[in-house]
Amino acid sequence: MAHILALDQGTTSSRAIVFDDSGAVQAVAQREFRQIFPQPGWVEHDPAEIWESQLATAREALSKAGLDAGDISALGITNQRETVVVWDRRTGQPLHNAIVWQDRRTAEDCARLRNSGHLPSFRRKTGLVLDPYFSGTKLAWLLRNVPDVRTAAEEGRLAFGTIDSWLIWNLTGGAVHTTDVTNASRTLLFNIHGERWDDELLAALDVPPGILPEVRSSSEVYAETAPDLFGGPIPIAGVAGDQQAALFGQACLRTGMAKCTYGTGCFLLMNTGRTAIRSKNELLTSPAWRLRGHTDFCLEGSVFVGGAAVQWLRDGLGILKTSPESEALAETVPDSGGVVLVPAFTGLGAPHWDPYARGVLVGISRGTTAAHLARAALEGIAHQVADVVSAMESDSGVAVSEMRADGGAAANNLLMQLQADLAGVPVARPKVTETTALGAAYLAGLATGVWNSPEDVAAHWQVERVFEPSPDRSRADGMRALWRRAVEKAKGWAV
Ligand code: ADP
Repeated sequence: MAHILALDQGTTSSRAIVFDDSGAVQAVAQREFRQIFPQPGWVEHDPAEIWESQLATAREALSKAGLDAGDISALGITNQRETVVVWDRRTGQPLHNAIVWQDRRTAEDCARLRNSGHLPSFRRKTGLVLDPYFSGTKLAWLLRNVPDVRTAAEEGRLAFGTIDSWLIWNLTGGAVHTTDVTNASRTLLFNIHGERWDDELLAALDVPPGILPEVRSSSEVYAETAPDLFGGPIPIAGVAGDQQAALFGQACLRTGMAKCTYGTGCFLLMNTGRTAIRSKNELLTSPAWRLRGHTDFCLEGSVFVGGAAVQWLRDGLGILKTSPESEALAETVPDSGGVVLVPAFTGLGAPHWDPYARGVLVGISRGTTAAHLARAALEGIAHQVADVVSAMESDSGVAVSEMRADGGAAANNLLMQLQADLAGVPVARPKVTETTALGAAYLAGLATGVWNSPEDVAAHWQVERVFEPSPDRSRADGMRALWRRAVEKAKGWAV
């Protein structure tokens, strides 16, 4: 039996999972690392901690599975996207903390770029919008504000990468500086149609081309791991950003298939096949993967605060001890009693894109209880995703026929039912919900002959439960109307 080691480098933890060739989980290891908040709206990670936690979990997963490097056919990498690492090529040392995708420090830089007329070009070439979410303005900020970074660039020693590049660099003992198309596509520097770094965009952001990694496909042998790390070399053969990996792991391999991951944020992606659809509704267009010489594309709507809204009930308000308790608490009331929570804590993502929006809690009355808040929080998550579903249907001209759900908060049955009702779409939860890591494992296994074709891996997908939308739309329509009014109140608040 063949085995694959998947590294899943997430926003709050590094995980490593060993899968067998039926797609079943053999061993899991996980380590959290520090979240660094230097100022309101700023979020950083220590790149050394990311690498050390990832290496430790990989070794632990191998040991739990009772396997050696020689038993592993391939290694796949999936990662938090857009997060920026800069390091010195000569020493391999990071030159600053990683600036995390959630970081809002470049909101004004984005506004400046928009005001000077750059938006249409970025939109057309990258499929993205000018928002601090993406890597480009973060990298430009580092080059402008950190003398060590600027000097290293001038002296030709600077390497830039997203987290996948940083891990590959370390896994190969500094021999390989590379990334895959899905990660490259989230930097604002990559032309998704020509599949290359784009000189005009680099110039607009004042980024020197020499610091960029080489771009490869999502499924091919990149290199072998340095033999001393795991007691022998393992081929690194699959790389994709976390959301694209989850789309692959959910076996959404045909045009029109969609998945939503409910973690800290929520990410809805629809496979659009060989066509890069240009959104009229501020959704993102990105490569889904490049595999066997062909690139498939997806439309994406990202919601910044999803499960994090439940975390806020738990840690900020203290009305829950654990996140899963939100379900039982919300079930004690039949509705939110007119309360609406717009969890725009870090601005609003698709389709609103307002970095200045902030959270709003409206409709509170004397009878409002913690249970109403819990229900409003779950509804707030589902409403945001429903906004993305309608934008996606309008862009693609295709009605979403089913949405496959995964991520920590997909365990919440009430949330899943609210989602089906509010979006008017059946929501299917698979048996294996480790879809992100699984996607990376599939991509790596396809490059090394563990599986022959994408159809082979799709055959492993099994449903656990389907949540059907309520046939009566009137209640959902009323809730949606109230939501839209509340969203207007959240917009533009932090200006
Ligand atoms: P990430 O990969 O983004 O760190 P996970 O997929 O591990 O996130 O999901 C964790 C998030 O999901 C947390 O924000 C947590 O509050 C939320 N969550 C976990 N379980 C539940 C649940 N049963 N109901 C609601 N939210 C949940």
